[in-house]
Amino acid sequence: MAWMRRIVSVFMVPTVLLSLASCAKDSSPTSSSTDAKQLIKDLNAFKNGDRTIRFKDMPIKVYVDGPSSWKDDVKKWEEWSGGAIRFEFVNSDPEVGIRLKNGIQQPLVCGVTYEPKWDNGEIRKADIEMDLTSYTPLCKQTVAHETGHALGILGHTKNGGLMDGDGGDGKMRDEVKEMMRILYSNPPNTSVDKL
Ligand SMILES: [Zn+2]
Repeated sequence: MAWMRRIVSVFMVPTVLLSLASCAKDSSPTSSSTDAKQLIKDLNAFKNGDRTIRFKDMPIKVYVDGPSSWKDDVKKWEEWSGGAIRFEFVNSDPEVGIRLKNGIQQPLVCGVTYEPKWDNGEIRKADIEMDLTSYTPLCKQTVAHETGHALGILGHTKNGGLMDGDGGDGKMRDEVKEMMRILYSNPPNTSVDKL
């Protein structure tokens, strides 16, 4: 099973409408943690009997076989998770970690992340494939989006932000940042009721 991010001009108009619609919802600070826990349930733990799925050990090893700018895009998750996620870049494909490489054939797809391999709530390996031929400015945030999948976002949001299926407005929503901070501040395989 693969997730694909397709970014073509036809998405631009609905993307703007979505981002405007989400402004009102974001104005309530108390809903952030509740929304984040719901996202963990809906986009992560649903795959594991309502228990969390994440990389166990920090830093997470990442092998980037592509432009070095991709490393900066991966590292955005360190800040977005409030420091709960950390990465170490390595020079070969790690046994446990993330591999980010160039090479998919489908047109108009910026990147694909295959469902991470996991067991007992622990992600062992995630593979991301990017298409450099469609690596246009419109695909600019794709590495960050696909890295989100590799880290355990096993679906898409519908909040107009970067983790929407079409990449939304390209910005990471606070509720998703909080989702990942909570996910990576608790051990793998934690019941969602205990978050
Ligand atoms: Zn996606």
